[in-house]
Amino acid sequence: MKILVLNCGSSSLKYQLIDMQDESVLAKGLCERIGIEGSKLTHKAPGKDDFELETAMPDHGVAVKLVFDALTDAAHGVVKSVDEIGAIGHRVLHAGKKITESIVVNQEVKDIIRECFDLGPLHNPANLLGIEACEKVVPGKPNVAVFDTTFGMTLPEKAYYYAIPTEYYEKYGIRRYGFHGTSHNFVSHETIKFGNLDPEKAKVIVCHLGNGASISASIGGKGVDTSMGLTPLEGLIMGTRSGDIDAAVVQFIANHEKLSVDEVLNILNKKSGVLGLSGVSSDFRDVEKAAEEGNHMAQVALEAFQYRVAKYIGSYAAAMNGVDAITFTAGVGENDKATRKEIVEKYLGFIGAKIDDERNNVRGKAALISSDDSKVKIFMIPTNEELAIARDTLRLVEA
Ligand code: AMP
Repeated sequence: MKILVLNCGSSSLKYQLIDMQDESVLAKGLCERIGIEGSKLTHKAPGKDDFELETAMPDHGVAVKLVFDALTDAAHGVVKSVDEIGAIGHRVLHAGKKITESIVVNQEVKDIIRECFDLGPLHNPANLLGIEACEKVVPGKPNVAVFDTTFGMTLPEKAYYYAIPTEYYEKYGIRRYGFHGTSHNFVSHETIKFGNLDPEKAKVIVCHLGNGASISASIGGKGVDTSMGLTPLEGLIMGTRSGDIDAAVVQFIANHEKLSVDEVLNILNKKSGVLGLSGVSSDFRDVEKAAEEGNHMAQVALEAFQYRVAKYIGSYAAAMNGVDAITFTAGVGENDKATRKEIVEKYLGFIGAKIDDERNNVRGKAALISSDDSKVKIFMIPTNEELAIARDTLRLVEA
């Protein structure tokens, strides 16, 4: 079966068509500036010329129609008709407490996605628009919602409750949900498979280190803790997010700078992290370059980033009373061997973790990067959220 995976943002739509027989990507592309002047579709299919189309996309419905046109086009398309596409898998950010697994979309599922607009204000409305657009453009084609929050649904109460009055959990669902769930789920299971670990009992820590960064602990592939919370702001230091912070900082800055809570949160989400600390960039490559050139705060930003990752690894090893494997993934985790080495060598000797420099010199494919005498296996495993969504979609439509 061929599965179309859609990831809709407020003004963008990313897609991949995957042939599930061999899990190969038949085509992928992007619609940009939906609802804004200058909309553009970029479509790539291996073995064919890239295709670009600049045309008005007033809404997601028009964008979805253009995607299906591109996929079925005689010149740059990859299927003869939409009938060859078995189902559509949608990346959806937030399901609140009500949905704990990927699910075939029906009216009730759409209502829940809508109810969670305030928990995922930037993503959920766009995700729902994408689903509704598909229902309109290819009626009857099954749509599956794969949520970023479902990995966090197996967390025990001690991990997901905030220590605040429980009325806020009951009234508003305020708890830790975690994000990057599709990635943590995929990479933790791939770690078990690739590392030949016990599928029921393996204690795995996944470090998803990219512009957004989070870390998870799982046993037998089931999440037991994860660093992001009610929103993606909690946890690690990220490209532009502060991660963990004393909540009183919000009040302090708001009072002294005469800003609203929303404005301070905007600073913590968009102007903090390695960008805020270094003053250079949110892109790790720029910050690393500045650090090499002697920029002190760029050096501090990178050290603080690594230190926070190491603290979480330590706390998750304690939370699980042990750890069998630590896996690095996402932009920094997959490409930055120096950061992986620093984290392991500076901080993880106490659990007997040892990196092997030659094995660590890897990119693009899953690899064991720890030495044979390391007490904990360390891996680099590329994440693939689209494939994870496609796999779940296939499982559900075949069920
Ligand atoms: P992601 O959000 O997963 O796409 O990751 C993006 C981040 O990965 C950016 O901050 C990039 O600078 C970083 N990144 C990508 N390649 C490298 C590299 N070779 N060394 C360091 N950071 C990298």
